[in-house]
Amino acid sequence: MTGKTHAGVGAAVGIALSSEIPGKLSIMAIVVVVISALLPDIDHPKSIFNRYILPVKSKLVKIIVYGSIGLALIMFNTFYINIPELTVTGIVLVIVAFSSHRTGFTHSIVGMIILAFIANYMSSRYNHIYLVYYFIVGYSSHIIGDMFTNRGVPLFYPLKNKNIKFPFTFRVGSNNGKFIEDAIIIVSVLYIVYRLPMLLKLK
Ligand SMILES: [Zn+2]
Repeated sequence: MTGKTHAGVGAAVGIALSSEIPGKLSIMAIVVVVISALLPDIDHPKSIFNRYILPVKSKLVKIIVYGSIGLALIMFNTFYINIPELTVTGIVLVIVAFSSHRTGFTHSIVGMIILAFIANYMSSRYNHIYLVYYFIVGYSSHIIGDMFTNRGVPLFYPLKNKNIKFPFTFRVGSNNGKFIEDAIIIVSVLYIVYRLPMLLKLK
């Protein structure tokens, strides 16, 4: 699915589940759910995340940007701070630098657990522990969304290299696919516009 669809679905699902999630729904929670819904495509040089948040234009730039930030973080942390989560973050960045889109890691359960571990550290550090739930909701909405596409996702990577998808799928970029994604975005936006003002006021 395209980044726009992932962002819309992530925000809508996060808002829909907010009453089940501990902590209050905040603007920050919505930002977290949208970013985490875009995050799995971080290994794709043309994803929204790379084009607009980090100026990554090509595979080579991606390798250089993520690889060098990752290595710097690992080295700096080993010598000075020594926080395990930071080393894990560095390793993830190096993996992202070298993995190509959908070959595994970021679209797998293992990847999600490792990233949730990092998110958990970040959110507890800033005393907003509830944000990790929004992270998990956003991230899993992305993986489930991609399971509706004909390519599926390597859910059990690195244990199994098979792409998993639902029995009903559409092809991204096809006429059908574009229609379905547009419809999903419209429904998500309508739902967000309808629910959000109420929720932010209530809580
Ligand atoms: Zn994806």
